[in-house]
Amino acid sequence: MATHASSKTLDLTRDLISRASVSPTDGGCQAVMIERLEALGFSVENLRFGPVDNFWAKRGSGGPVFCFAGHTDVVPTGPVDDWRSDPFAPVIKDGLLYGRGAADMKSGLAAMLTASEEFVERYPNHRGTLAFLITSDEEGPSVDGTRRVVEVLRERQEAIDWCLVGEPSSESILGDTIKIGRRGSLSGRLTVHGVQGHIAYPQFANNPIHALAPALAELTSRTWDAGNEHFQPTTFQVSNLSAGTGAPNVIPGELKARFNLRFSTVQTVESLKSTVEEILDRHEVKYSLEWFVSGYPFLTAPGVLSEAACRAVLEHQRIRPKLSTGGGTSDGRFIAPMGAQVIELGVINATIHKVNECVRVEDIDLLHHIYRRTLELLLAT
Ligand SMILES: [Zn+2]
Repeated sequence: MATHASSKTLDLTRDLISRASVSPTDGGCQAVMIERLEALGFSVENLRFGPVDNFWAKRGSGGPVFCFAGHTDVVPTGPVDDWRSDPFAPVIKDGLLYGRGAADMKSGLAAMLTASEEFVERYPNHRGTLAFLITSDEEGPSVDGTRRVVEVLRERQEAIDWCLVGEPSSESILGDTIKIGRRGSLSGRLTVHGVQGHIAYPQFANNPIHALAPALAELTSRTWDAGNEHFQPTTFQVSNLSAGTGAPNVIPGELKARFNLRFSTVQTVESLKSTVEEILDRHEVKYSLEWFVSGYPFLTAPGVLSEAACRAVLEHQRIRPKLSTGGGTSDGRFIAPMGAQVIELGVINATIHKVNECVRVEDIDLLHHIYRRTLELLLAT
């Protein structure tokens, strides 16, 4: 297929890449999007929290509410000298568009915008509401971004029925993978308390390494669950373990460990915490334990939204996407608890966060066709 040297979606992608927006900076990207959305009849609300620009835009009225979600911020470039070209000066070479944010996710933002333009032109009286939720804090702490916007929407009792996050979800062919959820992440910071002493007189000491060892064996060999149709089984991994004074003749007084559980919707945070604590208690470990939840699991059961997206991919790409819950985090985790169906569908993610980040030029236009078709299937009158 011929490379589109120029298309509205490609031009907008280049424009957005050239606006350097290392998290949480927006670099003027949102202003470009807002201007075009207002021209289409969207009402746009700027929601700036702390250093973070966000906006919420709506067109139409009532339900169903379809929302495109995404972020204008990008991760840092790393050493610029390692790049073949300036990361904020988009360049096309051999059918690939290079630049920071090319895949994650300025091509996605451009595709949702041009898809909406064409859709609205064709269906000015579309049913329900078409919305955009855009943030400049997805790659950073993710505190003043989508999380805060969702709080505002919840206070007003505004609902989202279907949310398409334009994150790069594809693996080797555009559209081969659609994310329909993700696992939860629970971390623990464990301190085991013992009594320091001379290694020759263990009767006067209490070795925290020995105290933890049997409990750790049980925690690491345990089958937590079998997962389910959409999720892998829960995993327990120790990331850090330290104890000892460095001297060969001293029993240490304390042990520190960090661990993480990646878990599915089969488990709850409470059930995981109580299982870990029950095992430590049963082995009579004396400990303190701090817990951190960095994300709750969510799943959008295959339904109207994923079916429409799959059909749009099938029509344009002749492949049926795999529905996946793998990979890292996205802002979908904040939107799903509103009761929305949430999917992630975007370009190939092979180069994201790396030097020489790039996207296939051909895929940029294809993605906008897939998004436009998804809109037609859901909101056309
Ligand atoms: Zn991203």
